[in-house]
This record gives sequence, structure tokens and C-alpha cells, in this order.
Amino acid sequence: MYKTLKEVTQTATKLNMTVGAFNTHNLEMLPEMIRAAKEMGAPIIIQTSIDTAKYIGYKVMVAVIKEIANDEMVDVCLHLDHARDFDEIKAAIDAGYSSVMYDGSHLPFKENIVKTKAVVEYAHAHGASVEGELGTIGGTEEGISVAENDKIYTKPEDAVEFVAQTGVDALAIAIGTNHGQFKSKTEVNIPLLKEIHAVVNIPLVIHGGTGVKEEDYPELINNGIRKFNVGTELLVNWTKIAKASFAETEVNKSLRHNVIPANMEVKEIVKHKITLFMNVDNPLEMKK
Ligand SMILES: [Zn+2]
Repeated sequence: MYKTLKEVTQTATKLNMTVGAFNTHNLEMLPEMIRAAKEMGAPIIIQTSIDTAKYIGYKVMVAVIKEIANDEMVDVCLHLDHARDFDEIKAAIDAGYSSVMYDGSHLPFKENIVKTKAVVEYAHAHGASVEGELGTIGGTEEGISVAENDKIYTKPEDAVEFVAQTGVDALAIAIGTNHGQFKSKTEVNIPLLKEIHAVVNIPLVIHGGTGVKEEDYPELINNGIRKFNVGTELLVNWTKIAKASFAETEVNKSLRHNVIPANMEVKEIVKHKITLFMNVDNPLEMKK
């Protein structure tokens, strides 16, 4: 079924697991991403940048996701990633996106609160969820670039205030991860995550998940990470396989021969990630 971010992360909290939030860049890779979740019996968050949403069309994106979610009997949330423009956020919510991220992390603290709160009011009035961000996540993503020296870790006391003042449904935190990191792995600041989790009572979100070591997943999940973003790993592998397929396929053969292998590669990665995200070796009572 078509779900909000609040709904899928509430389920994840109850079960002490996390929900994979996977970025799609086109319609081609989308159905197999959702079928991967269906095969695992897990909910999934599909997220798009504003640019991808405009490329496909907000309403088209919503229609496709809803159709697959209902047809394939899998819980899917459609989320707008890293939005800063109110007009685009409104366009997504009005078209039926079930969740949006307002990224005010670059703003002064009070301005971030005021703007995030405005987005929460509009989103909640229209049945959508909101993810906020505090601190800065490093690296580069579409339209977002943060230099290493400008990274600021999330302060637990700020997180408490931010959540109380804004009413966000989930909070993206900066604990050392970087967007777009795929050639190396990062050291996540687990002690800081524990500090934040001890005082913040809503689902926490990790960005730049491609750069996180898989052996760190259980500790992240056991300390309140309920939305786990993975984008770069899918993008890089889809492109690698597509490059090879396009190079070897005759020009008059159906395009399916080029894109299906890339889609299937993405499906396998999503399934692998979801297996880890279900956190099956850890007990339910790890949650607060
Ligand atoms: Zn991000």
C-alpha cells in the first residue's frame, strides 16, 4: 500500500529495523526496486531529487508508485529528497508525494526551525510526512555540496529543541557520513548517535549510506536509525552495467537488452541492503 514516512518508520521502530530509502533517477529502474522490497516482505522508501521529480513529472511519479504499491502489495513511501524550495515542496505534496524533506541545514538554527515548521504545517494538513535536517552532511549530491571543513555534527541539545519546535516526523543527523561517497568508507560517530538517540524520541535518518560500512549497520539501527538512505551505490552500478550493455548490444535490438541487466543489478543491491536493514539478529527490545 501507499504509505507515509511516518507510517513506515513507526513500523520500523516497533520492529527495531530500518527502512531503506533508495533514490531513483528514472522510471526504468523503479519497478525492480519495489519488487525487491516485495520479495523481502519489507517496506521501502523511494526518493527523488527535485530534478528527477521534474524530469519524470510529480504526478506521473505518484501515479506509478501508487499503482505498483497497490498492485504488488508492498508498502511504499514516496519521498522528496533534500528540498529547499517551498514551491517545489508544495508541488510534490499537491501531486501526492507522501513525504518530503525540508533541508534547512545550511541556515542559521532559528531560521531552519521557522522554515521547517512552515513545511510541517502544510505537509501535515495534506497528509504528508516531513524529514528535517540538523548539522551538515558532507560530500556532493544533486544541488547540494558541502566541503569537508564546513561539516558540522548535529548537537544533541539542538536536536531536542528542533524536534520540539518543528514537529518533524523524522530527523536527518550529521554523524560523519558523506553524500556520494563510494570509493571509500567513512567512520560514523556512534557515540554521538547514542547521545542523540537518548534524548530525541523520533526516527533518525542517515544520509550518505553508500559510504557506511555494512558491519556498522546493526549499531546504527539499534540506536534509532529508522530511515537509511542509499543512492550512489545504485546509481554507480546501474550506470556501469548499462555502459557495458549499450556497448555490446546491436543498435537495432530492443532497448530492453540494455536496461534490463542494469535494473536487475539494482534489484539485487536493494535486496541485499534490505536483508541487512531488517536487523534480524537483534532483538525487538533494543528500541527505547
Ligand atoms: Zn542526503
